[in-house]
Amino acid sequence: MDCLFCKIVAGDIPANKIYEDELAVAFMDINPQAPFHALIIPRQHLATLNDISVEDREVVGHLHWVAAKLAADHGFADDGYRTVFNCNRHGGQTVYHIHLHLLGGKPLGWPPY
Ligand code: C5P
Repeated sequence: MDCLFCKIVAGDIPANKIYEDELAVAFMDINPQAPFHALIIPRQHLATLNDISVEDREVVGHLHWVAAKLAADHGFADDGYRTVFNCNRHGGQTVYHIHLHLLGGKPLGWPPY
């Protein structure tokens, strides 16, 4: 297992975890791009969105359910927030275990470049 986020799931390297369930783990991003910036990842290793199969749809949808729950739990659901999956080089993906960014706590700029 040579995947950084699999090691975080396993507890082999530290992360500031804020949520865990049977399908997903969420932790605060070490290089936050907003006042609140968490990553929500599946326990199972899926390298990129391109690797999602029909059977993986439930877990990928679940990551968004967790995002909305965290936004509500942390008090910024009504103000709003952004969720992002980056995919491969043009998407800016740097860790090859899918992760849903959850950003909130301030008005966010758009477009993202
Ligand atoms: O979408 P992308 O692959 O670029 O995002 C990876 C994210 O993982 C970055 O926001 C980075 O700060 C975060 N990261 C982290 N903890 C690590 C390594 C990377 O939160 N140990």
